[in-house]
Amino acid sequence: MTDPFGFLRIPREPIPARPVEERLGDWHEVHAGQALLPLVSRQADRCMDCGIPFCHTGCPLGNLIPEWNAYAAHADWRAAYDRLHATNNFPEATGRLCPAPCEDACVLTINADPVTIKNVEQTIVDEGLRRGYLTPSPPERHSGRTVAVIGSGPAGLAAAQQLTRAGHAVTVHERADRIGGLLRYGIPEFKMEKAHLDRRIEQMRAEGTVFVTGQDVGGADGTATAGAADAAALRGRCDAVVVAVGAGERRELPVPGRELHGIHQAMDYLTCANRVREGDWAEPPITAEGRHVVIVGGGDTGSDCMGTALRQGAISVVQLDINPEPGPDRTDDEPWPVYPKTYRISHAHDEARGREGRDPRLFACATLRFDGDASGRVRALYLTAVEPVGRSPLAGTERVLPAGLVLLALGFSGPERAGGLREQLGLELDERGNFARDAGFAACGGRAPGVFVAGDAGRGQSLVVWAIAEGRAAAAAVDRYLTGSTCLPAPVAAHDRPMTALGRMRYGDF
Ligand SMILES: Cc1cc2nc3c(=O)[nH]c(=O)nc-3n(C[C@H](O)[C@H](O)[C@H](O)COP(=O)(O)OP(=O)(O)OC[C@H]3O[C@@H](n4cnc5c(N)ncnc54)[C@H](O)[C@@H]3O)c2cc1C
Ligand code: SF4
Repeated sequence: MTDPFGFLRIPREPIPARPVEERLGDWHEVHAGQALLPLVSRQADRCMDCGIPFCHTGCPLGNLIPEWNAYAAHADWRAAYDRLHATNNFPEATGRLCPAPCEDACVLTINADPVTIKNVEQTIVDEGLRRGYLTPSPPERHSGRTVAVIGSGPAGLAAAQQLTRAGHAVTVHERADRIGGLLRYGIPEFKMEKAHLDRRIEQMRAEGTVFVTGQDVGGADGTATAGAADAAALRGRCDAVVVAVGAGERRELPVPGRELHGIHQAMDYLTCANRVREGDWAEPPITAEGRHVVIVGGGDTGSDCMGTALRQGAISVVQLDINPEPGPDRTDDEPWPVYPKTYRISHAHDEARGREGRDPRLFACATLRFDGDASGRVRALYLTAVEPVGRSPLAGTERVLPAGLVLLALGFSGPERAGGLREQLGLELDERGNFARDAGFAACGGRAPGVFVAGDAGRGQSLVVWAIAEGRAAAAAVDRYLTGSTCLPAPVAAHDRPMTALGRMRYGDF
């Protein structure tokens, strides 16, 4: 166990990020590396091994946090690594990317600073990888059943790994030319280097999972084109199908001037930057170099655009958020242990602040229109302050920002509407525009038996940790459907939501 007085003796100390100047000069992850083991073991010793570990309530995976804290405190990296993988297929991703609702739920948060759970997680998996613990776990016997997983984001990958290990023959069908979903082409290298993803895919291949890339299941316009596959035919060939196609329907900004050159969807921009890192291009077709950049949308995607723009050499960066600036503390309707909407600074915000000496965000404001130059390229963005609740414009607050590149990071409204996937599988939409499913992940719809929906496609825009949890749970449902019973864990039900103060399940809190 951990030191019973550790939390009294040891102050919280997160692993340090590299200096801003240094990390803006490259694309490597923001954190420093291996010399951190003593620090992390000491930090893990702050865990109180609570009788009721509330950190669990924050994590949809049911991670065994006090157990791996104890192993990390004693530098027993093998045991810690195994406990980490008991509940999570890709801890190297959550350890880097998760906003760590477990830390906001940690009991220490009531009157002190929480355990650095996320840092401990990342360090355990990195140390395990360094020691060669990552080996394939192929099944002992094969079931003779076949499963098609459509989409290779974290939900599809988690489902595929669980089902392969349960003995089924699993093929992952991916529209893009590389595996990984948003882990590959959305999330930038400085948050998670792609080598981590590649290593996991190699493990899955060695276990027997088959990957097919460049295959648009359903076809881009619902017709059979090169690289497309008919979803109904695929269902006919397999014993079960898992639809894990994400929530790729992008929100638009229908204001005057939207058609000007230099205004792009954030995902197009981030994909270009990630392709350069993959070696596809020497220079990105969309770049922030030498431009004033305005990012419309206050979330994680916008923050990722900011870190990317800074590394590309933007002259200035501003991020617009329609929501008012959150306060530093929990409000009464967001008590411990719920995940509160407090003022947070991402690494990218920190980088911009370090360079420009101010928070790069403007809160409670909305875009009115764009202005262009003679060549039809955007040169200015007009904005207005808005009321905090109704979001209606406040008269007399209009102002103008220079803008040579505008990135729209307004979120997503469910799985893509184009393409024939939905029609060919007979999938229904729920009231929010996501693929409808029952509590056990089975798709709703006339032609849908044996079809399951996992990840953002069913939940709506969410987090990597929820995608992995959904993939694991959907795999358990598929295994039961195919064999009549299952030993696979199901950490969440399809309609579970993050905890709120009222116990009500609110959509999209994370
Ligand atoms: C820019 C950005 C940054 C983010 N950063 C974070 C973060 O830091 N931390 C965090 O926890 N979450 C983050 N998220 C959210 C997180 O990435 C998603 O919640 C998660 O990736 C969802 O996983 P998924 O498997 O459901 O879908 P996705 O990752 O979206 O994968 C879906 C896959 O399906 C494929 N596909 C779609 N249609 C078809 C078809 N017809 N045929 C074949 N394949 C198809 C797509 O090409 C894609 O590869 C971020 C999201 C974005 C956009
Ligand atoms: S709530 Fe915090 S202190 Fe308690 S077991 Fe979890 S990590 Fe440890």
